[in-house]
Amino acid sequence: MIPRIRVAHLPTPIEAMPRLSARLNGVKLLVKRDDLTGLALGGNKTRKLEYVLAEALANGAKTLITLGALQSNHCRQTAALAARYGLGCILVVSGKPDGEPSGNWLLDDLFGAELVHTTAEARSQTLETTFQRAWAEGKRPFIIPLGASTPVGSAGYFTAFEEMLQQVGGDRIDWIVTASSSGGTQAGLALGAKEHRFSGKVLGISIDRPAGELQEIVAELANGAAERLDLTVRLSPGEVLVNDSFLGGGYGVMGDLEREAIHLFARTEGLLLDPVYTGRAAGGLWTLAKQGFFMPGETVLFWHTGGTPALFADRYRADFA
Ligand SMILES: *Cc1c(COP(=O)(O)O)cnc(C)c1O
Repeated sequence: MIPRIRVAHLPTPIEAMPRLSARLNGVKLLVKRDDLTGLALGGNKTRKLEYVLAEALANGAKTLITLGALQSNHCRQTAALAARYGLGCILVVSGKPDGEPSGNWLLDDLFGAELVHTTAEARSQTLETTFQRAWAEGKRPFIIPLGASTPVGSAGYFTAFEEMLQQVGGDRIDWIVTASSSGGTQAGLALGAKEHRFSGKVLGISIDRPAGELQEIVAELANGAAERLDLTVRLSPGEVLVNDSFLGGGYGVMGDLEREAIHLFARTEGLLLDPVYTGRAAGGLWTLAKQGFFMPGETVLFWHTGGTPALFADRYRADFA
């Protein structure tokens, strides 16, 4: 058992996508709506933070410190959670703060978080010095690693997998497809799949890392979570399915793949994706389907991980004009 606080709106719905499915050559598409987890516009960090915050509180934390890009969903959700628990919040964010706050950045300000701007290269170092400063100031800081992807945070997606199993009952799911970056989401899902002898497969669409690197990260997180959860199963990197064909122009760079997927899902099903993660992952899913990667008659569950506030970031405005 891992201690947990409760803030998420669960279970999140699983929705059929009949109009998209009709264009997928006999493949049935479902979406697990983890963009609706609650906590300041939702997303996958809610489930991980339920466990990580319990750990922080048990450690006597009074200030949460975390890191990410300027448009980080994880930072936005951490800032909201800190406000809700009366904790301080310091966000170490990389990326040029050009223009006025918008999207997730604007929300960070709204939740009263302190932002420390840095570069991607200096981010870990800035995190360290920020922690030292906060500690010296008596703020009882607690560092939440990138994306709350720790073994403890990954447990949030082990329980999410069990939630999904209950929802689908006896219906077969052949594939679960999700965006994967810091790895905690995929780690929890893959661990759940192994523990429950799931007949389908969990495929991570890498957002910003080579497959080999992400497979190692996911396996390590899954095994750390397994240990904390007193499970005997373990994963090897080779069992972790990752596709890294859709890295495009790099992290946060929106290309045709993302833009087209966002338009397709919006106009066909009225469903919002985001420019950084779900646009890329859904674009990857769609491309794979067109290539015949999924078989006719198979059911594919796209695990929506949220991120929609980034649609309103100034940096993507021109992409939707
Ligand atoms: C953080 C994030 C991801 C990636 O999840 P990881 O657990 O870090 O791999 C995917 N989608 C969205 C919207 C995110 O904010």
